[in-house]
Amino acid sequence: MELRIGVVGLGAIGRDHVQRLSRRITGCKVAAVAEVNEKVGREIAGQYDAKFYADGEELINSPEVQAVMVTTWDPAHAQYVMASIKANKPVFCEKPLATEVEACEEIIRAEQELGRRVVQVGFMRRYDPGYQELKKTIREGKIGQPMIVHACHRNMSHAATMTSEMSIKNSGVHEIDVLRWLLEDEYVSGQVVLPRQSRISAKEGLQDPQIMMLRTQKGICIDVEISQSSGYGYDIQCEVVGDLGTARLPDPPSVATKTNCSHTTAIMPDWQNRFIEAYNIELQDWVDHARNGLEPAGASAWDGYIACLTAHVLGQCRAEGGMAKEIKLPQRPGFYC
Ligand code: NAP
Repeated sequence: MELRIGVVGLGAIGRDHVQRLSRRITGCKVAAVAEVNEKVGREIAGQYDAKFYADGEELINSPEVQAVMVTTWDPAHAQYVMASIKANKPVFCEKPLATEVEACEEIIRAEQELGRRVVQVGFMRRYDPGYQELKKTIREGKIGQPMIVHACHRNMSHAATMTSEMSIKNSGVHEIDVLRWLLEDEYVSGQVVLPRQSRISAKEGLQDPQIMMLRTQKGICIDVEISQSSGYGYDIQCEVVGDLGTARLPDPPSVATKTNCSHTTAIMPDWQNRFIEAYNIELQDWVDHARNGLEPAGASAWDGYIACLTAHVLGQCRAEGGMAKEIKLPQRPGFYC
């Protein structure tokens, strides 16, 4: 039987995911969509033979929807995740789980009261074959004990609404999640260092680039450059330095051309293509679990909470002048182990 999914929010990734669920992922059907822009919502509903809802909560509570996907803008995530938990339906929420720590706490409380895990957060890098291979290399001890991580997250360009806070809470949050997953470690302190401002991204309220510095329980030191306007492409890098060697995240394969006295390989312009395989694997895995009545296997509400809390401390650090701050993580409840 096909899993009947309702998608709330039809922006860039909402539309991508509707198409992916309809054309690529097996065992599911987009049964309903909700979108604040009614014209867009009705158009997409028509294209995919789905029912249109003007109200996301109405969609979630509809008996024809068995599982929910939340792809609205960040501030609306928590509301729809809470409604899904109340309706006892599996919910895939695009990152971040919520914009505020308190909202994440409310979600993990509600999920524990429900008594089963229904929330998966869209940290798709955990499904990326390159990150998977990197994790395997570290686990097998090939580079010895990890000591240092150098990473960078460069967006080609940013939306007009981008702020210094969003740069960490919306972009940096991917790094925060994937690095603790990769290293199987937890953060103990963090800091934000502000280099010279880029002239390209210069605008009121946006300090760009920023460098997030994190230290883990095992003593691993991490630096992550977050840039919103590389101008040359979407570039994700990660190098782990161990005491026996180093391991680097592979770049996506690209044909190298040599012409006119130059040697070039293409760089992806955007996240849609850079992580296309990760999104495909992630959504198939989510559908397979939900369809078989299993708890989700991807990033949990707890992981979403830790990412939000870490981003929050880093934001405080920047606001207070950049001194390193302790990251006090609460004890992980057995429910999330
Ligand atoms: P987007 O293009 O700006 O779309 C956001 C969508 O949410 C739009 O359809 C917007 O409607 C709708 N929306 C706005 N306010 C709403 C409300 N109060 N209630 C319901 N819907 C509302 O953004 P996007 O790039 O698709 O991003 C959507 C989410 O996915 C974000 O949370 C983002 O962080 C996440 N994301 C994740 C990844 C990833 O790699 N995992 C990549 C991209 C995005 P209007 O168009 O009418 O404003």
